[in-house]
Amino acid sequence: SKWVYTFGDGKAEGRADMKNLLGGKGANLAEMSNIGIPVPAGFTITTEVCTYYYANGNQYPAELMDQVRTALADVEGIMGAKFGDAGNPLLVSVRSGARASMPGMMDTVLNLGLNDQTVEGLIAQSGDARFAYDSYRRFIQMYSDVVLEIDHHHFEDLLEDLKADRGYNLDTELGADDWKELVGKYKAKVAEQLGRPFPEDPTEQMWGAVGAVFGSWMNQRAITYRRLHDIPESWGTAVNVQAMVFGNMGDDCATGVAFTRDPSTGENTFYGEYLVNAQGEDVVAGIRTPQHLTIEGKTRNESDLPAMEEVMPGLFAELDAIRHRLEAHYKDMQDMEFTIQGGKLWMLQTRNGKRTSAASLKIAVDMANEGLIDKKEAIMRIDPMQLDQLLHPTLDPKAPRDVIASGLPASPGAASGKVVFSAEDAEDWAKRGEKVILARIETSPEDIGGMHVAQGIITTRGGMTSHAAVVARGMGRPCVAGAGMIRINYAEKLFTISGLTIKEGDVVTLDGSTGQIMRGEVPTIQPELTGDFAALMEWADAGRRLKVRTNAETPLDAQTARKFGAEGIGLCRTEHMFFDPLRIIHMRQMIVAQDEAGRRAALEKLLPYQRQDFIDLFSIMQGLPVTIRLLDPPLHEFLPHTQDEMQEVANAAGVELKTIRTLVATLSESNPMLGHRGCRLGISYPEIYEMQALAIFQAAVQVSQASGQTVVPEVMIPLIGTRKELDLLKAVVDKAAAQVFTETGTTLSYAVGTMIELPRAALRAAEIAESAEFFSFGTNDLTQTTLGMSRDDSGPFLETYRLRGIYEKDPFATIDRDGVGELVRIAAERGRSTRAGIKMGICGEHGGDPASIAFCEEIGLDYVSCSPYRVPIARLAAAQAAI
Ligand code: PEP
Ligand code: MG
Repeated sequence: SKWVYTFGDGKAEGRADMKNLLGGKGANLAEMSNIGIPVPAGFTITTEVCTYYYANGNQYPAELMDQVRTALADVEGIMGAKFGDAGNPLLVSVRSGARASMPGMMDTVLNLGLNDQTVEGLIAQSGDARFAYDSYRRFIQMYSDVVLEIDHHHFEDLLEDLKADRGYNLDTELGADDWKELVGKYKAKVAEQLGRPFPEDPTEQMWGAVGAVFGSWMNQRAITYRRLHDIPESWGTAVNVQAMVFGNMGDDCATGVAFTRDPSTGENTFYGEYLVNAQGEDVVAGIRTPQHLTIEGKTRNESDLPAMEEVMPGLFAELDAIRHRLEAHYKDMQDMEFTIQGGKLWMLQTRNGKRTSAASLKIAVDMANEGLIDKKEAIMRIDPMQLDQLLHPTLDPKAPRDVIASGLPASPGAASGKVVFSAEDAEDWAKRGEKVILARIETSPEDIGGMHVAQGIITTRGGMTSHAAVVARGMGRPCVAGAGMIRINYAEKLFTISGLTIKEGDVVTLDGSTGQIMRGEVPTIQPELTGDFAALMEWADAGRRLKVRTNAETPLDAQTARKFGAEGIGLCRTEHMFFDPLRIIHMRQMIVAQDEAGRRAALEKLLPYQRQDFIDLFSIMQGLPVTIRLLDPPLHEFLPHTQDEMQEVANAAGVELKTIRTLVATLSESNPMLGHRGCRLGISYPEIYEMQALAIFQAAVQVSQASGQTVVPEVMIPLIGTRKELDLLKAVVDKAAAQVFTETGTTLSYAVGTMIELPRAALRAAEIAESAEFFSFGTNDLTQTTLGMSRDDSGPFLETYRLRGIYEKDPFATIDRDGVGELVRIAAERGRSTRAGIKMGICGEHGGDPASIAFCEEIGLDYVSCSPYRVPIARLAAAQAAI
């Protein structure tokens, strides 16, 4: 078999589409060579050799030696130099190159082939002994570090000693003799450390380096990187051996990096940096200040250093032409490395350039408008999750920031405000017009009001799926969660971070995209929802079949979602409407009531609030469908916790404190998620659902009369397992509707449907659909009940499960296609079998997850529903799923 592929001199054995075999770097070097772009000749040892190597006890395939020898001879022919030749030596670089870029994860050796004889040849070629010995000592140091595993500090110490000895401050003060002396010292050090001399034989050097690259595939850095980026171990890495060209052989030499467009803004300008008389690593290392490529770039950054365009206009023009050729060829923004040796330009690498989310969007839209790619391709180019960063305010990158702590980037966006330590204070301060940041050890459902009015949320405990993180993401509030170095003192209303104290009212800024917390106000930049963003969304809307609705219960969320293009409300969780301080007291009264009459009295007081909620939502949604789910959570969630709260309820209800205390104890459940919740509440206390239904229909009639618009209420029953539950509760809803229509003399059409969030409901979907007019898949509960894993407690062990490959992704974030997905598929089929064309959507967290949206498209759901800030993400993902 063929294990080695050569490139150079306008031809190559490989191509860009052979990344799996040649790695990204090797495939692109071959491609560039094929299209006539000047690339130093070389060859690629394939990823299959890596796989073979690990499958066969670190042995190479038998034919490899011969194939490498032949390829090397080719390179020698093209470059007009000979590997190991004392008079005219070919020097090479040996680099790794995996399928996916793994920046800095693997090792590289430069200047390979140097020894005491060939260094003389390099002096002859370059006419520069200082350069040649400097290259030689760099090679010994790199090779020793990468291949021989001798720590580089040994060499740095020797260099520092020599400088001290000679009274030098800078490396540039060393002359040829100094470097030569250092080479001797380096080799002595290697012999001392290794117990044998530094390998002088270039062939031995090369095989040592090749072995080190393959070995580095299994080093800890690489293993960790692969795990973080989902790169399978089985891919292996290729090895590229390529003729050296030198950017540091004099003033007609240079090296640099360039992007075909600006990678931070996406603007179509040539962007990059270079250094005269330098090696590639000098540009990155930041020892010298690199110069701009273009006069424009230089002017923009107010740099005094001349641009390449001024210093080497001819070579710049050549590079600019290559920029255009490569971009037209790859049809994507390229990140290139180049070196100029003795006035000749060489390209060392090209690849699709990494870019910010903003640049990604601009480049895709611009390229479609330029006709380089079509609109479908532009849609496919954007990772929907990247849009998240574009929808929130961001910190002004130019503004100084005083970072005092950091935590998890739990919900994106940046915000500033005065610190408060309770949800109540947040609401009070907000009412006075103050901007506040809510800082809590952790949050609970009672804090929702405070979270809503806060600009941002900080918690010191909890992870990415903690209450604070999930709720904040839903609301689009920036949140830094689990900032463990912060100690909150609720009693004194302050927090401390190793000596520093921040008191209530002090201004802080948080960046939920990075997890940073800063002292004082850092200016933010508002997101732009027009321009490129709007263009891409328009193209996506034209290409998608799935409708996108939102999960919303407050007017603000509903408005935000409309602004982001939501086509209705797919889930209004009514329980969130009862935590308001004005309402919770009635809710609590309702719960503690001894009989139906008592409950009805309390519900009577809640009804006007509920009606107003729905009036607001119907008005904002202007005729779009609104799905309202009747009360779902266990009643004890509404109960008072503290002594004061219990006393308050006791006073309001006219009972003794101990009665309340007993009741709280009775209602508490050991497994509330599987307890007295969902439709079970409606079965036990139909008057609750009746009140909610009355409020819905009264609101619907009122809005349709006032606005003349059709209002389309969809009433949804949660957590049913049987048709009987649905039938009983549908009767309650229908009765309320009939009552309102009679009282108002207005009739409107409505639908009663159900959530499918229990396995039994999914399996019995055929008979359930005989009663239900629509299904909405509650995949949060369906995942919890199908996997038998608590949605609140599974975080810690799910991480282990993911690492062990039991579940590849968090099943609460991305639908478990094989298990939960099969139930959804079955329910959809069975539902359709008894009610043709039954409307179906999804409203679990999965409704905003691109991979899950693709699944919804596959099984032909009608819509997905997600939190407001996920709406644009879902629109794009739905389009991608349809392409
Ligand atoms: C669900 O279970 O998927 C759902 C949307 O309902 P909730 O998250 O309110 O339980
Ligand atoms: Mg649910």
